[in-house]
Amino acid sequence: MTAKIIDGKEFAAGVRTKVATHVARLKEENHIVPGLAVVLVGEDPASEVYVRNKHKSTLEVGMNSFEHKLPADTSESDLLALIDQLNNDPLVHGILCQLPLPNHLNEELVINSIIPSKDVDGFHISNVGLLGTGQKSMVPCTPLGCLMMLRDHHGSLSGLNAVVVGRSNIVGKPMANLLLRDSCTVTIAHSRTKNIETLCASADIVIAAVGRPEMITGDWIGKSATVIDVGINRIAHPTVEGKTKLVGDVHFESAKEKAGAITPVPGGVGPMTIACLLANTLTACCRANGLEEPE
Ligand code: NDP
Repeated sequence: MTAKIIDGKEFAAGVRTKVATHVARLKEENHIVPGLAVVLVGEDPASEVYVRNKHKSTLEVGMNSFEHKLPADTSESDLLALIDQLNNDPLVHGILCQLPLPNHLNEELVINSIIPSKDVDGFHISNVGLLGTGQKSMVPCTPLGCLMMLRDHHGSLSGLNAVVVGRSNIVGKPMANLLLRDSCTVTIAHSRTKNIETLCASADIVIAAVGRPEMITGDWIGKSATVIDVGINRIAHPTVEGKTKLVGDVHFESAKEKAGAITPVPGGVGPMTIACLLANTLTACCRANGLEEPE
Protein backbone atom coordinates (compact mmCIF):
# COMPACT_ATOMS: atom_id res chain seq x y z
CA MET A 1 0.00 0.00 0.00
CA THR A 2 1.39 3.42 -0.86
CA ALA A 3 1.52 6.23 1.66
CA LYS A 4 -0.96 9.02 2.22
CA ILE A 5 0.55 12.17 0.71
CA ILE A 6 0.41 15.01 3.21
CA ASP A 7 -0.47 18.05 1.12
CA GLY A 8 1.51 20.93 2.62
CA LYS A 9 0.15 23.40 0.08
CA GLU A 10 -3.43 22.73 1.09
CA PHE A 11 -2.58 22.67 4.79
CA ALA A 12 -0.70 25.96 4.49
CA ALA A 13 -3.64 27.55 2.64
CA GLY A 14 -5.83 26.62 5.62
CA VAL A 15 -3.36 28.21 8.07
CA ARG A 16 -3.19 31.38 5.95
CA THR A 17 -6.98 31.63 5.79
CA LYS A 18 -7.19 31.37 9.59
CA VAL A 19 -4.52 34.06 9.94
CA ALA A 20 -6.31 36.34 7.45
CA THR A 21 -9.61 35.95 9.33
CA HIS A 22 -7.92 36.84 12.62
CA VAL A 23 -6.13 39.81 11.03
CA ALA A 24 -9.43 41.14 9.66
CA ARG A 25 -10.98 40.85 13.14
CA LEU A 26 -8.03 42.67 14.72
CA LYS A 27 -8.46 45.51 12.23
CA GLU A 28 -12.18 45.78 12.75
CA GLU A 29 -12.36 45.37 16.51
CA ASN A 30 -9.02 46.75 17.67
CA HIS A 31 -7.85 48.95 14.78
CA ILE A 32 -4.52 47.11 14.76
CA VAL A 33 -2.71 45.86 11.65
CA PRO A 34 0.05 43.30 12.30
CA GLY A 35 3.29 44.26 10.57
CA LEU A 36 6.25 42.14 9.43
CA ALA A 37 9.63 43.67 8.58
CA VAL A 38 11.98 41.62 6.42
CA VAL A 39 15.62 42.61 6.11
CA LEU A 40 17.66 41.35 3.17
CA VAL A 41 21.37 42.11 2.89
CA GLY A 42 22.96 41.48 -0.49
CA GLU A 43 21.67 39.93 -3.69
CA ASP A 44 21.61 36.18 -3.13
CA PRO A 45 19.07 35.03 -5.80
CA ALA A 46 17.47 32.32 -3.61
CA SER A 47 17.08 34.78 -0.71
CA GLU A 48 15.54 37.35 -3.06
CA VAL A 49 12.90 34.80 -4.11
CA TYR A 50 12.15 33.90 -0.47
CA VAL A 51 11.83 37.58 0.49
CA ARG A 52 9.55 38.32 -2.48
CA ASN A 53 7.29 35.38 -1.52
CA LYS A 54 7.19 36.49 2.11
CA HIS A 55 6.26 40.05 1.08
CA LYS A 56 3.45 38.82 -1.20
CA SER A 57 2.07 36.37 1.38
CA THR A 58 2.16 38.99 4.15
CA LEU A 59 0.08 41.42 2.09
CA GLU A 60 -2.32 38.64 1.06
CA VAL A 61 -3.36 37.97 4.68
CA GLY A 62 -3.93 41.70 5.23
CA MET A 63 -0.78 42.48 7.22
CA ASN A 64 1.64 45.32 6.64
CA SER A 65 4.90 44.28 5.00
CA PHE A 66 8.04 46.39 5.42
CA GLU A 67 10.90 45.38 3.14
CA HIS A 68 14.44 46.59 3.82
CA LYS A 69 16.92 45.70 1.08
CA LEU A 70 20.48 46.64 1.94
CA PRO A 71 23.61 46.42 -0.23
CA ALA A 72 25.96 43.45 0.27
CA ASP A 73 28.67 45.70 1.77
CA THR A 74 26.39 47.08 4.52
CA SER A 75 28.38 47.49 7.73
CA GLU A 76 27.44 45.62 10.88
CA SER A 77 26.77 48.88 12.71
CA ASP A 78 24.37 50.08 9.97
CA LEU A 79 22.50 46.76 10.06
CA LEU A 80 22.30 46.84 13.87
CA ALA A 81 21.03 50.43 13.71
CA LEU A 82 18.22 49.37 11.35
CA ILE A 83 17.26 46.47 13.63
CA ASP A 84 17.25 48.84 16.60
CA GLN A 85 14.92 51.15 14.71
CA LEU A 86 12.58 48.21 13.87
CA ASN A 87 12.72 46.98 17.48
CA ASN A 88 11.34 50.35 18.54
CA ASP A 89 8.77 50.76 15.76
CA PRO A 90 5.26 50.13 17.14
CA LEU A 91 3.94 49.28 13.65
CA VAL A 92 6.41 46.39 13.36
CA HIS A 93 5.43 43.25 15.30
CA GLY A 94 7.75 40.77 13.63
CA ILE A 95 11.31 41.14 12.32
CA LEU A 96 13.06 38.64 10.11
CA CYS A 97 16.61 38.97 8.90
CA GLN A 98 17.01 36.73 5.85
CA LEU A 99 19.88 34.25 6.25
CA PRO A 100 22.56 33.62 5.18
CA LEU A 101 24.16 37.02 5.74
CA PRO A 102 27.29 38.09 3.85
CA ASN A 103 30.45 36.71 5.50
CA HIS A 104 31.60 39.99 7.08
CA LEU A 105 28.45 40.12 9.24
CA ASN A 106 28.19 38.17 12.51
CA GLU A 107 24.96 36.19 12.16
CA GLU A 108 24.63 35.36 15.88
CA LEU A 109 25.14 38.98 16.88
CA VAL A 110 22.59 40.21 14.35
CA ILE A 111 19.94 37.61 15.26
CA ASN A 112 20.39 38.28 18.97
CA SER A 113 19.95 42.01 18.40
CA ILE A 114 16.30 41.43 17.41
CA ILE A 115 14.08 41.93 20.45
CA PRO A 116 12.86 38.38 21.38
CA SER A 117 9.17 39.36 21.30
CA LYS A 118 9.54 40.37 17.61
CA ASP A 119 11.83 37.46 16.68
CA VAL A 120 9.31 35.66 14.44
CA ASP A 121 11.99 33.24 13.20
CA GLY A 122 12.48 32.03 16.79
CA PHE A 123 16.29 32.05 16.45
CA HIS A 124 17.10 34.50 19.28
CA ILE A 125 18.97 32.78 22.09
CA SER A 126 16.16 33.69 24.55
CA ASN A 127 13.54 32.00 22.38
CA VAL A 128 15.81 28.97 21.95
CA GLY A 129 16.16 28.75 25.75
CA LEU A 130 12.43 29.21 26.34
CA LEU A 131 11.58 26.46 23.84
CA GLY A 132 14.23 24.17 25.34
CA THR A 133 12.72 24.61 28.80
CA GLY A 134 9.15 24.15 27.56
CA GLN A 135 8.11 27.78 28.08
CA LYS A 136 6.11 30.11 25.84
CA SER A 137 8.36 31.40 23.06
CA MET A 138 8.49 32.25 19.38
CA VAL A 139 8.95 28.89 17.64
CA PRO A 140 11.05 28.51 14.44
CA CYS A 141 8.72 28.39 11.43
CA THR A 142 9.89 25.24 9.63
CA PRO A 143 9.76 22.90 12.64
CA LEU A 144 6.47 24.49 13.71
CA GLY A 145 5.00 23.68 10.29
CA CYS A 146 6.23 20.08 10.57
CA LEU A 147 4.67 19.76 14.03
CA MET A 148 1.31 21.08 12.82
CA MET A 149 1.19 18.51 10.01
CA LEU A 150 2.20 15.70 12.39
CA ARG A 151 -0.44 16.65 14.95
CA ASP A 152 -3.05 16.83 12.22
CA HIS A 153 -2.13 13.38 10.93
CA HIS A 154 -1.66 11.57 14.26
CA GLY A 155 -3.80 13.49 16.70
CA SER A 156 -1.68 12.85 19.79
CA LEU A 157 2.06 12.32 19.31
CA SER A 158 2.50 11.05 22.88
CA GLY A 159 4.72 7.99 23.16
CA LEU A 160 5.68 7.83 19.48
CA ASN A 161 9.32 7.20 18.54
CA ALA A 162 10.69 10.02 16.40
CA VAL A 163 14.06 10.21 14.66
CA VAL A 164 15.18 13.66 13.56
CA VAL A 165 17.98 13.41 11.01
CA GLY A 166 19.96 16.67 11.23
CA ARG A 167 20.95 18.75 14.25
CA SER A 168 21.02 22.31 12.91
CA ASN A 169 19.93 25.20 15.11
CA ILE A 170 17.23 26.22 12.64
CA VAL A 171 15.58 22.85 11.96
CA GLY A 172 16.90 19.71 13.69
CA LYS A 173 17.31 20.92 17.28
CA PRO A 174 14.07 22.95 17.56
CA MET A 175 12.21 20.10 15.84
CA ALA A 176 13.50 17.67 18.45
CA ASN A 177 12.48 20.04 21.26
CA LEU A 178 8.97 20.42 19.86
CA LEU A 179 8.53 16.66 19.53
CA LEU A 180 9.81 16.16 23.07
CA ARG A 181 7.33 18.78 24.30
CA ASP A 182 4.59 16.68 22.65
CA SER A 183 5.88 13.61 24.57
CA CYS A 184 7.56 11.79 21.69
CA THR A 185 10.65 9.70 22.42
CA VAL A 186 13.20 11.58 20.34
CA THR A 187 16.48 10.53 18.76
CA ILE A 188 18.59 13.13 16.97
CA ALA A 189 20.80 11.66 14.25
CA HIS A 190 23.62 13.46 12.43
CA SER A 191 26.68 12.84 10.27
CA ARG A 192 28.46 10.87 13.02
CA THR A 193 25.51 8.67 13.98
CA LYS A 194 26.09 4.91 13.75
CA ASN A 195 23.47 2.56 12.31
CA ILE A 196 21.37 5.48 11.15
CA GLU A 197 19.31 3.33 8.77
CA THR A 198 18.33 0.93 11.55
CA LEU A 199 17.46 3.83 13.85
CA CYS A 200 15.21 5.37 11.21
CA ALA A 201 13.61 2.04 10.33
CA SER A 202 12.47 1.56 13.94
CA ALA A 203 10.84 5.02 14.17
CA ASP A 204 7.15 5.93 13.99
CA ILE A 205 8.17 9.37 12.69
CA VAL A 206 11.20 10.28 10.57
CA ILE A 207 12.06 13.94 10.02
CA ALA A 208 14.67 14.47 7.31
CA ALA A 209 16.60 17.76 7.60
CA VAL A 210 19.97 16.91 6.14
CA GLY A 211 20.51 18.83 2.90
CA ARG A 212 21.54 15.71 0.95
CA PRO A 213 19.36 14.94 -2.07
CA GLU A 214 17.27 11.76 -1.70
CA MET A 215 19.61 10.29 0.94
CA ILE A 216 16.86 8.55 2.91
CA THR A 217 15.46 5.71 0.82
CA GLY A 218 12.58 3.31 1.38
CA ASP A 219 14.95 0.82 3.11
CA TRP A 220 15.33 3.34 5.94
CA ILE A 221 11.61 3.63 6.56
CA GLY A 222 9.63 1.37 8.88
CA LYS A 223 6.25 0.02 7.79
CA SER A 224 3.57 2.73 8.04
CA ALA A 225 5.92 5.36 9.51
CA THR A 226 5.24 9.06 8.94
CA VAL A 227 7.96 10.78 6.92
CA ILE A 228 8.41 14.55 6.97
CA ASP A 229 10.90 15.75 4.36
CA VAL A 230 12.33 19.19 5.16
CA GLY A 231 15.06 19.04 2.51
CA ILE A 232 15.10 21.37 -0.48
CA ASN A 233 17.79 20.39 -2.98
CA ARG A 234 18.13 21.49 -6.58
CA ILE A 235 19.62 18.74 -8.76
CA ALA A 236 20.19 18.21 -12.46
CA HIS A 237 17.02 16.96 -14.11
CA PRO A 238 17.37 13.19 -14.69
CA THR A 239 15.82 13.23 -18.18
CA VAL A 240 15.82 16.81 -19.51
CA GLU A 241 19.29 18.10 -20.29
CA GLY A 242 20.13 21.57 -18.99
CA LYS A 243 17.11 21.59 -16.64
CA THR A 244 17.03 21.21 -12.87
CA LYS A 245 14.46 19.91 -10.43
CA LEU A 246 13.77 20.19 -6.71
CA VAL A 247 14.04 17.09 -4.55
CA GLY A 248 13.96 16.49 -0.82
CA ASP A 249 16.32 14.61 1.48
CA VAL A 250 14.05 11.57 1.09
CA HIS A 251 13.87 9.37 -1.99
CA PHE A 252 10.15 9.90 -2.43
CA GLU A 253 9.34 7.05 -4.81
CA SER A 254 10.84 4.28 -2.66
CA ALA A 255 9.87 5.84 0.70
CA LYS A 256 6.21 6.20 -0.22
CA GLU A 257 5.97 2.43 -0.76
CA LYS A 258 6.90 1.82 2.90
CA ALA A 259 5.58 4.87 4.76
CA GLY A 260 2.06 5.37 6.09
CA ALA A 261 2.20 9.08 5.26
CA ILE A 262 4.78 11.31 3.62
CA THR A 263 5.28 14.95 2.64
CA PRO A 264 6.34 15.63 -0.98
CA VAL A 265 8.98 18.08 -2.22
CA PRO A 266 7.94 20.55 -3.47
CA GLY A 267 4.52 21.04 -1.87
CA GLY A 268 5.18 19.67 1.61
CA VAL A 269 7.07 21.48 4.35
CA GLY A 270 8.04 24.49 2.17
CA PRO A 271 4.61 26.17 1.98
CA MET A 272 4.11 25.59 5.72
CA THR A 273 7.21 27.62 6.57
CA ILE A 274 5.79 30.87 5.20
CA ALA A 275 2.34 30.14 6.65
CA CYS A 276 3.94 29.70 10.09
CA LEU A 277 5.89 32.95 9.67
CA LEU A 278 2.57 34.75 9.20
CA ALA A 279 1.06 32.88 12.17
CA ASN A 280 4.06 33.88 14.32
CA THR A 281 3.71 37.54 13.27
CA LEU A 282 0.05 37.47 14.26
CA THR A 283 0.96 35.84 17.60
CA ALA A 284 3.65 38.49 18.22
CA CYS A 285 1.13 41.26 17.44
CA CYS A 286 -1.49 39.81 19.82
CA ARG A 287 1.08 39.41 22.60
CA ALA A 288 2.37 42.97 22.08
CA ASN A 289 -1.17 44.31 22.48
CA GLY A 290 -2.22 42.05 25.37
CA LEU A 291 -4.86 40.38 23.18
CA GLU A 292 -5.94 36.76 23.06
CA GLU A 293 -3.53 34.71 20.95
CA PRO A 294 -4.66 32.65 17.97
CA GLU A 295 -4.74 28.88 18.61
P1 NDP B 1 22.44 22.14 7.88
O1 NDP B 1 23.43 21.93 6.79
O2 NDP B 1 22.59 23.28 8.81
O3 NDP B 1 22.39 20.80 8.76
C1 NDP B 1 22.40 19.54 8.17
C2 NDP B 1 22.42 18.47 9.22
O4 NDP B 1 22.42 17.21 8.56
C3 NDP B 1 23.65 18.51 10.12
O5 NDP B 1 23.29 18.33 11.45
C4 NDP B 1 24.50 17.34 9.60
O6 NDP B 1 25.22 16.65 10.62
C5 NDP B 1 23.43 16.38 9.09
N1 NDP B 1 23.99 15.52 8.06
C6 NDP B 1 24.72 15.87 6.97
N2 NDP B 1 25.08 14.78 6.28
C7 NDP B 1 24.58 13.72 6.94
C8 NDP B 1 24.62 12.33 6.74
N3 NDP B 1 25.25 11.79 5.69
N4 NDP B 1 24.00 11.53 7.62
C9 NDP B 1 23.35 12.05 8.67
N5 NDP B 1 23.26 13.37 8.93
C10 NDP B 1 23.89 14.19 8.08
O7 NDP B 1 21.01 22.15 7.17
P2 NDP B 1 19.60 22.79 7.64
O8 NDP B 1 19.13 22.15 8.87
O9 NDP B 1 19.67 24.26 7.55
O10 NDP B 1 18.67 22.32 6.42
C11 NDP B 1 18.46 20.96 6.14
C12 NDP B 1 17.66 20.84 4.85
O11 NDP B 1 16.40 21.47 5.02
C13 NDP B 1 18.31 21.54 3.64
O12 NDP B 1 17.99 20.79 2.49
C14 NDP B 1 17.59 22.88 3.58
O13 NDP B 1 17.55 23.42 2.28
C15 NDP B 1 16.21 22.49 4.03
N6 NDP B 1 15.43 23.56 4.65
C16 NDP B 1 14.14 23.69 4.24
C17 NDP B 1 13.33 24.64 4.77
C18 NDP B 1 11.90 24.70 4.33
O14 NDP B 1 11.27 25.74 4.45
N7 NDP B 1 11.34 23.61 3.82
C19 NDP B 1 13.82 25.60 5.77
C20 NDP B 1 15.17 25.33 6.22
C21 NDP B 1 15.93 24.35 5.65
P3 NDP B 1 26.48 17.34 11.40
O15 NDP B 1 25.85 18.30 12.37
O16 NDP B 1 27.11 16.18 12.06
O17 NDP B 1 27.31 18.00 10.37
